[in-house]
Amino acid sequence: MSTDCLFCKIVAGDIPSDKVYEDEHVLAFRDIAPQAPVHILVIPKAHVATAAHVTGENADLVAACFAAIPQIAKAEGLDSGFRVITNCGEDGGQTVFHLHFHLLGGRSLGANLL
Ligand code: AMP
Repeated sequence: MSTDCLFCKIVAGDIPSDKVYEDEHVLAFRDIAPQAPVHILVIPKAHVATAAHVTGENADLVAACFAAIPQIAKAEGLDSGFRVITNCGEDGGQTVFHLHFHLLGGRSLGANLL
């Protein structure tokens, strides 16, 4: 845990979240400022700052997130598809420096990323 990390505080229960999924390694909760009808953040419980900090040592945490995503999508009724995004670093638009995957859906998101 990183003591000054917002998402570590959510994992610890020190800051409330609208939790939709949890297992040993993963927590998922609704984004506070949703960009789509379904907007969920899927995070490893362990602190990894960004996608640039993923290594052979901690890549199992990424795998755990991606194993959870289809289950969450199914529970949310995203049967016709969804988008998964991770912003990395300053130029990537990352604002919370704890690795997270945005799971977006509930409407047609179009073909363009931006
Ligand atoms: P990013 O800009 O990719 O780092 O995404 C950070 C996301 O965290 C943004 O979409 C925010 O709306 C979201 N966010 C910030 N604080 C909270 C919070 N307390 N609970 C849920 N989502 C949050």
